[in-house]
Amino acid sequence: MTTLRLILGDQLNPCHSWFAAPDPNVVHVMMEIRQETDYVRHHAQKILAVFAAMRDFAAQLKSQGHRVRYVAIDDPSNRQSLTGNLDALIRHYGATTAAYQAPDEWRLDRQLADWAAGLSIPCQMTDNEHFYTARGEAAAFFGPRRQWRQETLYRQLRRQHGILMDDNGEPAGGRWNFDADNRQRWRGDPPEPLDPRPAHDHSLLWQTITDAGVGSFGQPQADALRWPLNRAEALSQLQAFIEHALPHFGAYQDAMSLRARRLFHSLLSFALNVKMLNPRETVDAAAAAWRAGRAPLAAVEGFVRQVLGWREYVRGVYWARMPGYRDCNALEHSLPLPRWFWNGDTGMQCLARAIGQSLEDAYAHHIQRLMVIGNFGLIAGLSPQALHEWYLGVYIDAFEWVALPNTLGMSQFADGGLLGSKPYAGSAAYIGRMSDYCAGCRYRPKQRVGADACPFNALYWDFFRRHRARLAANPRLALVYRQLDKLPEAERAAITARAAALQANLDAL
Ligand code: FAD
Ligand code: SF4
Repeated sequence: MTTLRLILGDQLNPCHSWFAAPDPNVVHVMMEIRQETDYVRHHAQKILAVFAAMRDFAAQLKSQGHRVRYVAIDDPSNRQSLTGNLDALIRHYGATTAAYQAPDEWRLDRQLADWAAGLSIPCQMTDNEHFYTARGEAAAFFGPRRQWRQETLYRQLRRQHGILMDDNGEPAGGRWNFDADNRQRWRGDPPEPLDPRPAHDHSLLWQTITDAGVGSFGQPQADALRWPLNRAEALSQLQAFIEHALPHFGAYQDAMSLRARRLFHSLLSFALNVKMLNPRETVDAAAAAWRAGRAPLAAVEGFVRQVLGWREYVRGVYWARMPGYRDCNALEHSLPLPRWFWNGDTGMQCLARAIGQSLEDAYAHHIQRLMVIGNFGLIAGLSPQALHEWYLGVYIDAFEWVALPNTLGMSQFADGGLLGSKPYAGSAAYIGRMSDYCAGCRYRPKQRVGADACPFNALYWDFFRRHRARLAANPRLALVYRQLDKLPEAERAAITARAAALQANLDAL
């Protein structure tokens, strides 16, 4: 009687009940497959970090007495497909039952459900024991509402789990939201904390990956890979974040600077998304730091909102709207990505920095993703699907359940406003306010038209002109339309002409 249990590459949770005690009748299967390296073109560090973390996890399980069959990318028996390998291994071990943890991506969920339905042995899907909410919980909570506000679900989860709540049922500090305290520009003080992550030498593994013919882009940094590759490393990174960065997380969470890559962000998304860390322990650690007086409430609330609020919320949107969500394009944008998305070689300093950093580190923080890269894609009219593929490939933390709602919904308004009450569009004024990017840029942030004018400006105003029919009735955009309509006719015409010229030659920017 042998059971085959599948562990996916983003299910590296040693605290899962599967691993409570070794069982000689259970074989745990892990596999490095071209199906997963090739469904989109990935950043080199993403492939390397996932494989290295999987290998570390398999070694840990073995050392605890679990049986593990690890199919490496260059294993001659590797069929390079999930179900091809599973079928072969069921035969090989004479397995009488199979099991897998609920996948977080729709594509794998479907593939495994279809495969399981055709099996001649029983196969069970079990909870992956990671999230606060069940897959369908957000959909049940929002019901038929046209707009799903993150804030509503977030408050419900705070109440339900008693996080940052007073005994009288009110939010700690008497407010749910400290966003107004959290929008400061960073001028170098307090200093950016040291990067706490260890550097791993995985040159040999990288050689194996490239020898196997796996394609990628971005810098592998294989001899100094800076991502946590097991739970112990993830926990020490969490601790370093709580101690050194969390106290300033809130104040500077929207700030950007040429002098700092991460500022006070946690760099925890990879560890969370491959499930080395549980969201509960990150939220609890932050709340405990506030209770102990080691971090201000505004900072802790800002962080808790990201993990308990946004992360659970986007997952709910994903499961409620898939598979159709992937194709939504409410604004009918269709321009291809400019060439510089693949090398960062643009004269726009904000984009050169945000994209260049993404290619070097497989990481950019939220405001770089949303208000620089995503903002440009939105106002320039880039295809949301092409952008989604880029985001899904480039970031170390990108898995479809979280990347898709963030890119298509939050950043590109492609779902027509299910996720965001208005498009996240901004001109150079926003980027100049929140960063030091504009000083030294070849473009002039205060100009709207002319060869040296910042491209964000004409594209911003023209975006609202182009989408007047859909957006003008939105009360949150009333001021924008009043400002647009106040511009002299000739200036509006010049903006339209400048935007069209920019859109016709985005590669040249
Ligand atoms: P911190 O700023 O320190 O935040 C703490 C944690 O909160 C993160 O680790 C993450 O788990 C969670 N979080 C914060 N914001 C979000 C959010 N909007 N949605 C879900 N979780 C959030 N996040 C991903 O994990 N994977 C993605 O593929 C991804 N793609 C994105 C694409 C776009 C266009 C945008 C605008 C955002 C995307 N995000 C994604 C959300 C967010 O930018 C990243 O989670 C964050 O930058 C990761 O860095 P950090 O760990 O330093 O986060
Ligand atoms: Fe970006 Fe425009 Fe500022 Fe240059 S001037 S950094 S393009 S916002």
